[in-house]
Amino acid sequence: MAFREGQQVHKHVVQSGHGSSPFVQTSLLNFYAKCEEIELSEKVFDEIPERNVVAWSAMISGYSRLGMANQALDSFREMQKAGISPDRVTLVSAISACAISGALDLGKWLHAYIDKKGIENDLELNTALVNMYAKCGCVEKAKEVFEAMPVKDVKAWGSMIYGLAINGLAEDALNAFSRMGETKAEPNHVTLVGVLMACAHSGLVHEGKKYWSSMIESGIEPSLEHYGLMVDLFCRSNLIEDAYSFVESMPIPQNPAILRSLLVACKKKKILDRGEVTAKHLIELEPQNAENYTLLSSLYASVSDWERMREVRKQMKDRDIKTVPGCSSIEVDGFVHEFVMGDWSHPEAEELKGILSEISDRVRGSGHEPWVSGVLHDTSDEEKEHALCEHSERLAIAYGLLRTEVPTVIRVVKNLRVCRDCHEVTKIISRLYNREIIVRDRVRFHKFIDGACSCRDFW
Ligand code: ZN
Ligand code: ZN
Repeated sequence: MAFREGQQVHKHVVQSGHGSSPFVQTSLLNFYAKCEEIELSEKVFDEIPERNVVAWSAMISGYSRLGMANQALDSFREMQKAGISPDRVTLVSAISACAISGALDLGKWLHAYIDKKGIENDLELNTALVNMYAKCGCVEKAKEVFEAMPVKDVKAWGSMIYGLAINGLAEDALNAFSRMGETKAEPNHVTLVGVLMACAHSGLVHEGKKYWSSMIESGIEPSLEHYGLMVDLFCRSNLIEDAYSFVESMPIPQNPAILRSLLVACKKKKILDRGEVTAKHLIELEPQNAENYTLLSSLYASVSDWERMREVRKQMKDRDIKTVPGCSSIEVDGFVHEFVMGDWSHPEAEELKGILSEISDRVRGSGHEPWVSGVLHDTSDEEKEHALCEHSERLAIAYGLLRTEVPTVIRVVKNLRVCRDCHEVTKIISRLYNREIIVRDRVRFHKFIDGACSCRDFW
């Protein structure tokens, strides 16, 4: 139903005096959520006097589908406080929200709840659990749930293959894919994303090309994500020219996300000419996207061309380009704490500052030189270093060190790419503090153990 017609129905229902029926209200709530008009859903929800599990579920799944994980989890907690027990639908949505925000503790609690209450753990619920465990970096647990599933459909296989791939377990992902081939489940978009990601991660160029051809032959139309992964495969294998020819041969219009992958590769390999052309093209396509400028300026920084780096920064200022503030979250004791760069409004800010400076001292003591050229110009080196130390993921990691004990794994979710210095420092922290740290950034998963990262320093 179209949004406008739905609204008409809403009006009619209110006028006819049926507006207060919980059934009608829940249907409206659902309708608005599906139209991505979540504020209207909230309004309807607030007006329901007696909210039953169906109404709560509709609200929670509305949030969850739109990626508003924290709101979904908050509603879930409120529902519990109101004494309403979750049903299967609520559980699937809540578990999906845990996957998005990396809330592993709550996810585990939900899993235990399902077992304890004897709720029928069907295909959908199990698949949600596999997905949640994998996205929280708990891949062993994901495998355990998956292997115990009596029936596995293509969605379940997809969650497992994708989950293995994002966790850097390329070989396992490809093995799972070939196991799937022995069943009735036909590969789809998601399974192929997992497969291509696994190939990209391990530099399996030959295999990647093979899977690509078979995908085309089987009639699956490649999506942007598949194209992006092929580009990633070439770039990670240092085949920059192949990456460029692949992009030129693509039958779709030039896409900024894919061009950015090329630019990242040029930056990594210090290929100035190609990189510059790509960056300028990107800036033409998306003149207001700060990331394009930031990448170009770090391309210049990578070849120590400070003059041109400053020019880009100036251009950003002149054009009033706003950068998206970095935001990282970590779950401690079942609550998700969010940290934004330079924001000290957290109630435990003082203790956080204490541990941050202790971390800085220890990291510095280990011989780390901050990569300050990647940050602001016209500030002193000391200030630059300070700016790096306040990057949101550092605050979240510090909070994790403050509030959890060894051997708890620190799991952080970040909205942007991890910067080079934070990546280095997190490796060092994982070694100095003997902690496994998992950072899921906008592009990929980083699993830091004993001074090394699962991305093999390519991201
Ligand atoms: Zn950083
Ligand atoms: Zn990494």
